[in-house]
Amino acid sequence: MKPSKLPLWSKRPSPLLYQLLQPPTHASSSTAHHVPFPPPSGPKTPPPLSALPTKTFLRSLLFTSVMASPLLRPCLSVLKYMVDSQSMLFSPGRNPLVNYLLRRTIYDHFCAGINETEVRNTVQEMRTLGFKGVILGYARESIAKVEDIDQTQSAEAKQEVLDRAVDEWKQGTLRTLKMSGRGNYLAVKFTGAGPAAVEALSRGDPVPPPRIQEAIWEICDAVAAQGSRVWIDAEQQIFQSAIDAWAVDLMRKYNRDDVNGDAPVVLNTYQAYLKSSTATLNTHLQLAQKEGWAMGVKLVRGAYIAHDHRDRIHDTKVDTDRNYDHIVESLLTRRYPLGGESGQLFPKVRLFVASHNGESVRKACALYRQRVVSGLPSIPVEVGQLQGMADEVSLGMVGGSSEGEVPGVFKCLAWGSTEECLHFLLRRAVENQSAMERTRDTARALRGEAWRRLGGGAVL
Ligand SMILES: Cc1cc2nc3c(=O)[nH]c(=O)nc-3n(C[C@H](O)[C@H](O)[C@H](O)COP(=O)(O)OP(=O)(O)OC[C@H]3O[C@@H](n4cnc5c(N)ncnc54)[C@H](O)[C@@H]3O)c2cc1C
Repeated sequence: MKPSKLPLWSKRPSPLLYQLLQPPTHASSSTAHHVPFPPPSGPKTPPPLSALPTKTFLRSLLFTSVMASPLLRPCLSVLKYMVDSQSMLFSPGRNPLVNYLLRRTIYDHFCAGINETEVRNTVQEMRTLGFKGVILGYARESIAKVEDIDQTQSAEAKQEVLDRAVDEWKQGTLRTLKMSGRGNYLAVKFTGAGPAAVEALSRGDPVPPPRIQEAIWEICDAVAAQGSRVWIDAEQQIFQSAIDAWAVDLMRKYNRDDVNGDAPVVLNTYQAYLKSSTATLNTHLQLAQKEGWAMGVKLVRGAYIAHDHRDRIHDTKVDTDRNYDHIVESLLTRRYPLGGESGQLFPKVRLFVASHNGESVRKACALYRQRVVSGLPSIPVEVGQLQGMADEVSLGMVGGSSEGEVPGVFKCLAWGSTEECLHFLLRRAVENQSAMERTRDTARALRGEAWRRLGGGAVL
């Protein structure tokens, strides 16, 4: 795509735009690991962000700059208020003007669309930008809450409410799968199945209640039939041991080459900020090897640090970073058990590196490439970031090679109505606040691109 001349800015930029367009300083971030990604391009390589269409680019520039500034705090307060508001003035469900403003701003930045047509257009845009595919999730979080159930109702009436929640979740998930299309990923959150799922998960039940079990099997059958994959999101610690158990049962059932040639169909999520993550991975790798199924590993750092038992999480960010990179390296070099003496047979594994951290993503891609080019054994690997986040990382990797020595790059999209996406949007804003340094890196990269589009590239 050609760099745009930004006709909107032919007049003198406003003071805010001036601030947004300050040429990027080359001062490095305060944290040592936040290096620019990819390394500065040579004269023939177009800068990664030059691929963004003008409208998307302007929205990203505006949002990321706000999120990297002191303005984020008041914006966050307003958004938090809106999420639970029933007021005629502030609720997006009751005030069409508020709904419209949210849609055209933060929603469009982070979400894929409110219906099938919009979502399909966004999926197509991602492919045009060079992404191998998308991961699509339905943003609606919990269909019914326990407190929604009238305690005076009969047992049958209560059961009906619980069953309806599971059925709505199943239908929404199957619809999402269809929208995503063949070869893409479906993202599934077990707690989305409503109060019955939340209760079973928090009790630590090793298998789901029958209605949820059947819904999950129906979803996985449809995923396999469509030639797609599904990943199970990791959630708060209170749910996680049951989520792991349910996910291992699914991997055992669906990730067999004799059932699905392109196994694994199901990926479980592992949170590297947990001190127990290496031990959990080792246990699952051992099971996969012993029982003859393929393991699907989606690796994240973990999103629930503010809510979970702090003592179960690595003491420092550096420890989490080290653990994340160590797991990636061990899997890519087929070393098992992780962190121990290698030597045991390594099962079939597929890795998805889900991170906005340019350093971790760069290391994973470089190691994978080095092993493939040198003819050393490795495992299939893909990488992905959320829509509206770390575009300079994602776009810096797309279209690198068709020879298979560069991991496929994906964007993770959420869809749903403005109200359904509010909790998801709030989490994105909070995440940007807690990863302020990384957001500033993205803002810096976007300002650099703005400067280049305005013709200032030569002086940089
Ligand atoms: C495609 C995709 C899918 C995701 N799916 C899930 C999911 O299913 N479940 C889930 O939990 N998260 C998920 N996440 C979010 C993820 O866990 C991280 O919260 C987020 O990506 C930020 O981490 P990072 O790797 O991008 O990099 P960074 O910004 O470098 O790392 C920030 C992370 O480091 C860790 N951290 C920060 N401070 C400390 C500290 N003081 N001590 C120890 N650790 C610290 C936290 O995990 C924090 O989120 C997903 C992210 C992506 C990109």
